[in-house]
Amino acid sequence: MSQTPAADTSARPPSPPQPPSIAGLSNRLASFVEAGLAGRSIDAAHARAVLGSPGSPQETIPLLPLLHAAGEVRRRWFGRSVRVHVLNNVQNGACPEDCGYCGQARTSKAPIQPYKLKTKEEIIAEAEGAKKSGAFRYCMVLSGRGPSDADIDHMAECIREVKRRFGLRTCLSAGLLDEAKAQRLRDAGLDRFNHNLNTSRRWYPQICTTHTYDDRVETLKAARASGVELCSGLIVGMGESLDDIADVAQSLAGLEAESIPVNFLVPIPGNEVASPSVEGGPLTPELCLRVLCLMRLVNPKAEVRVAAGREGHLRSMQALALAPANSLFVDGYLLTRGSDALATLRMIRDAGCTIELEGADWPEELRRFASGDDGGYALPDGARELDVIKPERLSERKLAKLSVNGKAAADR
Ligand code: SF4
Repeated sequence: MSQTPAADTSARPPSPPQPPSIAGLSNRLASFVEAGLAGRSIDAAHARAVLGSPGSPQETIPLLPLLHAAGEVRRRWFGRSVRVHVLNNVQNGACPEDCGYCGQARTSKAPIQPYKLKTKEEIIAEAEGAKKSGAFRYCMVLSGRGPSDADIDHMAECIREVKRRFGLRTCLSAGLLDEAKAQRLRDAGLDRFNHNLNTSRRWYPQICTTHTYDDRVETLKAARASGVELCSGLIVGMGESLDDIADVAQSLAGLEAESIPVNFLVPIPGNEVASPSVEGGPLTPELCLRVLCLMRLVNPKAEVRVAAGREGHLRSMQALALAPANSLFVDGYLLTRGSDALATLRMIRDAGCTIELEGADWPEELRRFASGDDGGYALPDGARELDVIKPERLSERKLAKLSVNGKAAADR
């Protein structure tokens, strides 16, 4: 039986040493990282490949190396920091539009509690709460097709006050807008205007008929002309295809959106679009992570945020989302609730990231927690220390300390 001869490698030039960050990645992923480190997007064909091929698993980029590659790009532009955003719905319901994913749409049968635009005092009080829970940015959301002149005056006053009193960065989501209105908000100190593309141009008529994709693009252009930063993202899981998701990523790159919230459809009974699905299949945690990687690799310098649906769709994989994403929403999505703020801050820290606190007057307790100075021990919500540790094995002093911690964990 003949032996296979050993390959003769003596004639080949030695491979150039790889930078440590991309050593071990496939050529394709290494090229993604190289582009991202230089601030360049990956191209359309590669963007689509990030999302995988459901029919050909052998051609799908493995998830963990993909997360590693996207994480390298994220660290180049944002280090390990995570920005925490708190969202306040300042007006609810009674919208004449028919966005199928929205509980405030006229077509929705969701049992929501409509309320008028909140007063300045209410909005300021909620901004104070956001500050205390570690927010980097305070996001205010108005329902409706677009703001009236009176709405603009009201929100401009609130923006001035939030910035003066708490030093929070501000973001406003207020529907369709022209340049004159955007300028009044900018003059009041608005930092960012949010208006999501939501889905691709192709899929847009499937989710809304009362305004068009182009109306949305025009609003974003008007906001850009006023000098505010753009926050624009998508909702994944509205029945679109993987091609549609890749398409939105490219469109957002074309708009140079500074901030990209990635929402995963929260199923609200009564909405027109209430069952999360992509290309006829389920919206899995893996696909959610791939979408976040896609957004990072196509928009390397953008703030990529894990927004609505984080807990329900990513579930036990939430911490992995912080490889590609560098910001998240905490405590209180539109019409739904996020996880407890402290549990989210703990997850950020446990993932090896730092919490980016803006301004100087944060509560001492939060500052200590963010810096890891809290003893670093916590039980899952609801668990009691004494249920899982035999007290006779512990010193009295340790036991007293654990009892206090156990009570605090149970009380949360
Ligand atoms: S315009 Fe805004 S508030 Fe109105 S239905 Fe659409 S998403 Fe909902």
